[in-house]
Amino acid sequence: MSRFDAIVVGGSVGGLSFAGEAAKRGLSVLVLEEHDEIGEPEKCDGLVSLRGLRRYGLAPSRGAIQSSVREGVIHPPAGPQLCVDAGALEVVVIDRSQYDKQLAENASELGAIIKTGLRVQRAAEKGELVTVDAGQTYESDYLVDATGPASAPAGGILPAAKYEVEADWVEEGRVEVFVDQARYPGFFAWTIPYGARRAKVGAAGRGINPFKALDALLESRPHKVIRRVAAPIYVGGPAGRFVSGRKVWVGESAGQVKPTTAGGIATSIGGGVIAAKWVAESVHSHDPSRLEGYEREWRETFEKEMRAMMRLRGVFERLSNREVDLLISTLSSPKLLARLGKSDFDFHATAFLSALGVVGLFTLARLVASAEVRQLLSPRS
Ligand SMILES: Cc1cc2nc3c(=O)[nH]c(=O)nc-3n(C[C@H](O)[C@H](O)[C@H](O)COP(=O)(O)OP(=O)(O)OC[C@H]3O[C@@H](n4cnc5c(N)ncnc54)[C@H](O)[C@@H]3O)c2cc1C
Repeated sequence: MSRFDAIVVGGSVGGLSFAGEAAKRGLSVLVLEEHDEIGEPEKCDGLVSLRGLRRYGLAPSRGAIQSSVREGVIHPPAGPQLCVDAGALEVVVIDRSQYDKQLAENASELGAIIKTGLRVQRAAEKGELVTVDAGQTYESDYLVDATGPASAPAGGILPAAKYEVEADWVEEGRVEVFVDQARYPGFFAWTIPYGARRAKVGAAGRGINPFKALDALLESRPHKVIRRVAAPIYVGGPAGRFVSGRKVWVGESAGQVKPTTAGGIATSIGGGVIAAKWVAESVHSHDPSRLEGYEREWRETFEKEMRAMMRLRGVFERLSNREVDLLISTLSSPKLLARLGKSDFDFHATAFLSALGVVGLFTLARLVASAEVRQLLSPRS
């Protein structure tokens, strides 16, 4: 039985970006994916910033890009809609199945071995040896858990579903977000066009039946459903630890997902690539304590933004529909919208907070305070 430097459980963006980078750094890597085909079944909507992927040298191929986003429209519960010119953000919609296959091909070309149709049942660490049981036993020095939401930190999962639809009302390049605390408590619904007359339409929220929410959203919009997908999203923030002994967690299993939008492609790829760098350091120096560098570097890159996102999420969760309307109307200053349109999509919370300015921050503070007071007065508190 051959022994690998690292075994990766999970062949999606987190695991495959790890595998490519680790192989590039000279490690022997085995990826074990439970499904028969990489990228399938596809759940993700694929809305992502090209900048975020280029940062790690993993831009999607032309064939994997379905559409470019030029405008974001927020529909508040009752107030007027808010439009953000997104042309400068370099946000695209990718075909996740294609993109994951591209990452797998890249990792294989660099020397990683990818085995599909193998579900890992058990992994154990004994001294310097990791053994992984997937029907057959494999051995390695290090283990990478890239199993996604199944291992994500407890408590951060929201029910979500999406339809892929064909419809005349779809405007290519125009992403819509529907905010309504009664229909989608603590989250929102969305439409993401991915070609002429085609859109991915999703909904998520605390305690909702997302299919019912989607049916209600689409009631007044004639459409034909091409595909239905139920898949939970994760919004609970990064895990407390990404490293333990000879094991690292990357991607959604480490909670490396934006708590505001549940977008996890770029942050998981960041996790995979940074983890690979430090696993390679550990292998080359025969010193597992070097793994700590992974956690440090990922947090240096993303922690400030994640904290800002968690704060925004905490505020948003407590707002009533009336307060959401008030907040969104405060945001509709041309100056603020222009600044948002020029920010970095992957770091939108810090950009948003700095763009708010004194008046916006004051409104936000007032809303939070009123929500807190209301919570204090609520008979359930
Ligand atoms: C409906 C929906 C829409 C989304 N839209 C977007 C979006 O537009 N933009 C964005 O950035 N993010 C989006 N996300 C989030 C994004 O898809 C995830 O954050 C990202 O895929 C996480 O990557 P990952 O590699 O950590 O985990 P995953 O992509 O979840 O992959 C985990 C892999 O591990 C495998 N696996 C699990 N257990 C085992 C096992 N025991 N043995 C072997 N293999 C195993 C699984 O089969 C899977 O392939 C969306 C998510 C959902 C659910």
